[in-house]
Amino acid sequence: MHCPFCRHGDSRVVDSRTSDDGSSIRRRRQCPQCNRRFTTVETASLSVVKRSGATEPFSREKVINGVRKACQGRPVSEDDLALLAQRVEETIRSSGSAELDAYEIGLTILGPLRELDEVAYLRFASVYQAFSSLEDFEAAITVLRADHEAARAAATGGDPDAGTSGADEASSGATGPSPTA
Ligand SMILES: [Zn+2]
Repeated sequence: MHCPFCRHGDSRVVDSRTSDDGSSIRRRRQCPQCNRRFTTVETASLSVVKRSGATEPFSREKVINGVRKACQGRPVSEDDLALLAQRVEETIRSSGSAELDAYEIGLTILGPLRELDEVAYLRFASVYQAFSSLEDFEAAITVLRADHEAARAAATGGDPDAGTSGADEASSGATGPSPTA
């Protein structure tokens, strides 16, 4: 590749190291003409297959743009979004796939977005998973609630089976199964 300073058509590699996770190689290069040094980063190419069948390079910016709308009015900063996109890329790269579709990317976004902001997560999931009814929201919220309770039980150090779920069983037993279910 050519020198970014003087555009000389050649450069010499003076140092090369693999990143800790093995997903990229950084090369320190020196231009033989102007002697200035620069760094290149080599990663496996990651392609996204669009619905039309065309492919385009994976872009963190596109991930951020896709999530930003769901985060409107929520306490989510640009740094949070950048970090989320980085996590998404790392997850995809560590899976070893070189090519994936937009659906798989959406799937990878859900986890970190949920950790970031649950309201944004619900908004994103409702579009991405095409929620069509209140029941879809209810189901998603039920999962969030159950996880909250499990986390709370774990945080208080109690056995989650001994505490809350026992009480839940007792109350649901009293009311009986819901006829609408
Ligand atoms: Zn140069």
